[in-house]
Amino acid sequence: VVEVRGLEKSFGDLDVLEGVDLDLYRGENLVVLGKSGSGKSVLIKIMVGLLKQDEGSMKVLGQEVSKLATKELNSLRLKIGFSFQNSALYDSMTVKENMEFPLVRNIKNLTRKEIDYKIEELLEAVNLPQTINQMPSELSGGQRKRIGVARTLILNPEIMLYDEPTAGLDPITCVDINNLINEVRERYKTSSIVITHDLACAKQTGDRMAVLLDGQFKAMGTFDEVFPRASDERIKSFYDYNF
Ligand code: ATP
Ligand code: MG
Repeated sequence: VVEVRGLEKSFGDLDVLEGVDLDLYRGENLVVLGKSGSGKSVLIKIMVGLLKQDEGSMKVLGQEVSKLATKELNSLRLKIGFSFQNSALYDSMTVKENMEFPLVRNIKNLTRKEIDYKIEELLEAVNLPQTINQMPSELSGGQRKRIGVARTLILNPEIMLYDEPTAGLDPITCVDINNLINEVRERYKTSSIVITHDLACAKQTGDRMAVLLDGQFKAMGTFDEVFPRASDERIKSFYDYNF
């Protein structure tokens, strides 16, 4: 569902992506790893058309993102659920209003009943039905993340992008979020990319790993293919440090 070929992106003198090739297959969870500043967020920003590449191609659901007109880009974005690094909920709105916002903004002609049903279904799915009338400030970090994921799912995306879903959470909450990512995939049949520094998260959620190093994907495969016996020192040190 995503096909990246020879993707390059620089900011001034800084070469961030230097020939990235990547495929996301339908229904899989692909984990993207790489140290801070390696270009993981830049890659997914190009995927959703927030940035434009200098060279190469980025095809999402068969469409070359950089060539889309605004209107086409907007309708493509509706098929991509983007869970931001800092899962931005609107602080002045309740959980329910946060969930409702993308729905009423993007889909016309929904009845109140349909909207409420959808919100309830997704709050059940993330196991937080009791928070429906709470404010984001009353929730823990892990709960906010889960509400962020629920809100992202409300438009039935085909692709989910999770940018560091477990950053800043305790290990037990991390496991909850990882389970949620797996459940979302099974229940809503999404294809997903999970960006993380957390190898435990990678192992738990990823069908395949892709490690971004020096502007390219240097290792790709299952967790066991990529990590325990990595020949590249830097990939190995990543593993040794985490386990
Ligand atoms: P982290 O793990 O810390 O989130 P990352 O791999 O997501 O890191 P990116 O956010 O993709 O890193 O950034 C890669 C590099 O590109 C960084 O050096 C960053 O400063 C630079 N960069 C990203 N966006 C811009 C921009 N809009 N203008 C200039 N430089 C940018
Ligand atoms: Mg990032």
